[in-house]
Amino acid sequence: MKNCDVLIVGAGPVGTTLALELALHHVSFRIIDKIRARSDESRAVFMQPRVLELLNHHGDAHVLESRGSPYREQVFFINKKEAGKLTYADFGPVDTTFPLPLILSQAETERFLDECLAKYGAAIERPFMAKTIAQDDDGVTTILEAPDGRKETIRSKYVVGCDGAHSVVREAANIEFEGTTYPQDFILCDTHEFLNKFELGDSGTLYDPTWLARFRLHHRGASRYRNGRLFVAGDAAHIHSPAGGQGMNTGIQDSVNLGWKLAWALRGTAAAASVDKEALLDSYHAERHPVAQKVLKGTYRLFSFASSGNWLVRQIRNFIVPFALPKLTASESRRRRIFELMSQIAIGYRGSPIVGRASGRLRETVQSGDRLPDGKLERKQCGRITAAGETRRIAVQRLCSGTTYHLLLFSGTNDGNPATAETLEDARDELLHVLKNEIQVHIVVAGGHDGVGSVSSSYYADLEDRVHAQYGFANPGYVLVRPDLYIVHIGLLEDFGELLDFLR
Ligand SMILES: Cc1cc2nc3c(=O)[nH]c(=O)nc-3n(C[C@H](O)[C@H](O)[C@H](O)COP(=O)(O)OP(=O)(O)OC[C@H]3O[C@@H](n4cnc5c(N)ncnc54)[C@H](O)[C@@H]3O)c2cc1C
Repeated sequence: MKNCDVLIVGAGPVGTTLALELALHHVSFRIIDKIRARSDESRAVFMQPRVLELLNHHGDAHVLESRGSPYREQVFFINKKEAGKLTYADFGPVDTTFPLPLILSQAETERFLDECLAKYGAAIERPFMAKTIAQDDDGVTTILEAPDGRKETIRSKYVVGCDGAHSVVREAANIEFEGTTYPQDFILCDTHEFLNKFELGDSGTLYDPTWLARFRLHHRGASRYRNGRLFVAGDAAHIHSPAGGQGMNTGIQDSVNLGWKLAWALRGTAAAASVDKEALLDSYHAERHPVAQKVLKGTYRLFSFASSGNWLVRQIRNFIVPFALPKLTASESRRRRIFELMSQIAIGYRGSPIVGRASGRLRETVQSGDRLPDGKLERKQCGRITAAGETRRIAVQRLCSGTTYHLLLFSGTNDGNPATAETLEDARDELLHVLKNEIQVHIVVAGGHDGVGSVSSSYYADLEDRVHAQYGFANPGYVLVRPDLYIVHIGLLEDFGELLDFLR
């Protein structure tokens, strides 16, 4: 028996991502799957920008761009006629290193995840099926079975069910899976295509499929994501139609959300000891359940409309949509909004029980609970380190990656009332004291700020004040960031006391 802190049941993309997160945080875990080897079938073919951002911390997610193709536009056909186009690549810069979704076989996504896991020195144990799972006050006992009948009992502190739609963990946790099944049958295949180059409009013929799957689609969500020491994530927590390419991406983000929380709940450090572990673990449901419910609702509406046989809906689809769609997608701001939703960049946790609210920021565009906007900074070192200073460009999200909280202290620009180096350094020292040094603090100095030279340690220069503008900081401000790159607390430096109170 090899016990561990966390047992992950199921090594699809969601379970493997959770393994990456736990490996990053040095949590002792095991990950098992009942299947002997990975499938090479396409299945989920959309990789959304937000997921690329998050996976980029475990490996270079840019390699996925070379294994798939960028998704620049979506063309809608109704009755074999082009009815509209949604272009993603033409509405100016978006604050992300990955501005386009990728079309990528799920097999490639899983290959990338396996490569990242191998770098941490971890591996999936196959083929092992979780047969029975029982929790008690001190932990969870899981009985595994191999195809040859060998059995193994594992004791762990937590079990996470990433075991797909028919989850045994969900069943053991007594969690309802509410919803319905769509009436239609569907076919998905990997196939060859013959392009009819001599016909107008890239028409083609599909032939000789290498894989064909006939399936029914469901629309179901778990009523809760946690019961004591048992959790569910990915398809074990939500399944829906593939409309919009959200399913696997939503599941991967479940794992990113849960990973650091489990790690912190298990950690024995001084700062972690002051964390309310139960509240932290409960926040997984509080933050992720509404996200999946929104996806379930959105995909249900879209898919029901696209596949309905109802006479009235068909008339609207066939005659009104082709007329309305080009007008709807003509607006740049509307296209950008659709992109932000589909790419999952707009997902945030405002109102979550574990994020704060600074009184001076209630009407700003970037708020506590939001995704950390990305942007480029220049790394500088001066004073005692090198008088001349060295520079290196770094993205804000890259700077804030890792296993701890990060604090960004913004100097403010010359349009406002910029802080002195001493003020910034006092704020930094105070926070380090409260969090017992278990945080990384970065000072971000606006390009035109005259006080740059007097900052004595390393800092980051926002040369054209773009990052200050993104966050809405003409005056000095702070951003506290969690390990999954969401904002815990954002405010003006004059309200720094509110952050300290929140942390205490
Ligand atoms: C035919 C098909 C087409 C799809 N098309 C799309 C699409 O176009 N877009 C989209 O977003 N999504 C699509 N999906 C869904 C997508 O594949 C899933 O959302 C995604 O795989 C979810 O990942 P997961 O890790 O949660 O679950 P899964 O990928 O289902 O992984 C669960 C794993 O758990 C293992 N397991 C199950 N029970 C046990 C047990 N008791 N013990 C040990 N291991 C266990 C399984 O072997 C499996 O490897 C499709 C799925 C299918 C099947």
